[in-house]
Amino acid sequence: MPSGEFCVVCGRTGAALVEGVCATCAADRTELVRVPEQVEVVLCPTCGARFARGRWSGAGRSGVLSSEDLVPFLVIHPEVGLRSVTWEERARSSSLREVDGTALVRFRGLERTVPVHLLARVVARTCTECGRRSGRYYTAIVQLRGEAAPRTRRPKELRDRLEAVWAALWAEARSDWRAAFGWREELPEGWDVYFTETLAARSLARLAKQRFGARIVESASLFGRKNGQDVYRVTFCLRFPAATLASAAPAPGGGAGAAVQRYP
Ligand SMILES: [Zn+2]
Ligand SMILES: [Zn+2]
Repeated sequence: MPSGEFCVVCGRTGAALVEGVCATCAADRTELVRVPEQVEVVLCPTCGARFARGRWSGAGRSGVLSSEDLVPFLVIHPEVGLRSVTWEERARSSSLREVDGTALVRFRGLERTVPVHLLARVVARTCTECGRRSGRYYTAIVQLRGEAAPRTRRPKELRDRLEAVWAALWAEARSDWRAAFGWREELPEGWDVYFTETLAARSLARLAKQRFGARIVESASLFGRKNGQDVYRVTFCLRFPAATLASAAPAPGGGAGAAVQRYP
């Protein structure tokens, strides 16, 4: 940099200049992060899922607003890199939250903290899944069973072992498959697990085949019409080999079922 060049605002020399202004002065004169006056967060009061960008996601989250909810509303200056934002709810009612945030940003090599303040209106709306669940809506059943014959185990022991295998499967399930879980029913011969998305049930059935050698028998029954199309309910009967069940130790205290018991 030629000597004698100085920031036209603060007069300091030796700093990199853009259009005659040093980074510090430019940062002072730029709106680094802009916040809309009021934002709206749509939240399912039953499961905590949020509705954003046309879809529901994040079932199981708490009602406290976080970066996931609020950062998408921030308008970031094109030269700014957003490092992080910490939020604190200053005042809240169930429908209106006043939130203070501190954004850590980078601008032309400088790190800055920018206070952001926003008012979030929280709109309670029952999500698709909770709505379906409350109406006992389902499109698919996954049946967990032992081998057809011979029946060597007592029903309770069989169910416990099936539950342990199920918990192992569940731990590997994608979150969108889990989101389609409806409820489950205990039967003498095993478990029936109800799903609100057939694709999720089919994916879990395939995973059971791949990982545990389960045999899949698929059947479908017509249960109605929607938008001029026949709608089928599909049942995936999974028969787990005796060897798989023998090695599936039920966790003490029914812990193996914890993964599924998180749901009502
Ligand atoms: Zn300056
Ligand atoms: Zn919900």
